[in-house]
Amino acid sequence: MSKVLVIGAGGVGSVAVHKMAMNADIFTDIHLASRTVSKCEAIAASVKERTGVTVATYAIDADDVAATSDLIRAIGPELVVNLALPYQDLAIMDACLATGTHYMDTANYEPKDVAKFEYHWQWAYQERFKQAGLMALLGSGFDPGVTSVFAMWLKKHKLKTIRTLDILDCNGGDHGQAFATNFNPEINIREVTAPARHWENGEFVETPAMGVKQTFDFEGVGPKNMYMMYHEELESLAKFIPEMERARFWMTFGDAYIQHLTVLQNVGMTRIDPVIYNGVEIVPLQFLKAVLPEPASLGPTTKGKTNIGDIATGEAPDGSGEKTFYIKNICDHEDAYAETGNQAVSYTTGVPAMIGAAMIVTGAWKGTGVFNMEQFDPDPYMAMLNEHGLPWTVEELDGPLPF
Ligand code: NDP
Repeated sequence: MSKVLVIGAGGVGSVAVHKMAMNADIFTDIHLASRTVSKCEAIAASVKERTGVTVATYAIDADDVAATSDLIRAIGPELVVNLALPYQDLAIMDACLATGTHYMDTANYEPKDVAKFEYHWQWAYQERFKQAGLMALLGSGFDPGVTSVFAMWLKKHKLKTIRTLDILDCNGGDHGQAFATNFNPEINIREVTAPARHWENGEFVETPAMGVKQTFDFEGVGPKNMYMMYHEELESLAKFIPEMERARFWMTFGDAYIQHLTVLQNVGMTRIDPVIYNGVEIVPLQFLKAVLPEPASLGPTTKGKTNIGDIATGEAPDGSGEKTFYIKNICDHEDAYAETGNQAVSYTTGVPAMIGAAMIVTGAWKGTGVFNMEQFDPDPYMAMLNEHGLPWTVEELDGPLPF
């Protein structure tokens, strides 16, 4: 028996709530709140039609800690699943502390005025959650999220140590638009335009944004250009796999996407500092978000597959020398849309959000304090990925990536 409150009615929130309703034995009472209540109601209607389960809906501005605390008190959930935006993380953590409720999210806290992708703000809540006897689980999406669980599973079952790790994130989907982002454009563009950083010999090495490019042949998609980027799980992986010499994150982008983004950046449309227009302060990136297609609107037209995985090289447990393993999931956009009404980028994040919530409410993952995904047993999580729409495969490669 468990009551959960999900905050955030975007693509990820939609998938997570649909999947919770499909697992009504674990999630017996589901509540959904977001800034725009009509989006919650649309999700609740779809969930009712597809599963017969009733989801209660509410309007909330999660930046308002007092209002969020009142809502949590009125509902009395055991867990709050934060699927709003990274800007709301600390406010929702504060509301969880104020009401004695466990917390989970899929993306690290971001201040509105500077792109950082760092965990220290949330790690600073460690003592407060511990003393309150509460658990906060950070980053249970696909990346961050599953990519860390993949690494820990390899370390538990295939490799004694991990010397190098490469995370490869390929979206081979085609949405038929000249330019659109597959999840919140503001967060996506911030991520892509930030300098690249990778972990090497005990420190982060910074290189220019999109400065390192390689081609990789992704199963189910074909050869794609991928670019080295910074991504937040590199920070927790470097912390929890201390022997790691090098960790990198790669994401694929098509030439048209890069071309559009370069122009937008050159003309200043990706700036996150306010400019004055007609006497009003506007943030160019927020304005750009308003004119781009809503990620959720891409669902019906997106075709193709995502392919996200980890390639890890390290010492075999039996002393037979170094080995390399590739562990990945391939997800089809059209199948994802048929199941929950959302494309695969939302699906591959919303399913792990449901699984992370299940780990907490079933007690499969337990603890007091603030936790990253690397700190728990990967096995029950990996089993649920196979059972709930994100099956994974693992294979041994001849050797590490040649670059
Ligand atoms: P969307 O922009 O589609 O949805 C965000 C939702 O949060 C919207 O419904 C929005 O409301 C709501 N919201 C925004 N501000 C507030 C607020 N102050 N109070 C209450 N609700 C608010 O984003 P996605 O669904 O694509 O992404 C959700 C989260 O998942 C993000 O944090 C994103 O970074 C993360 N993510 C993680 C991934 C991973 O693999 N780990 C991958 C993809 C996303 P409104 O509709 O009114 O704007």
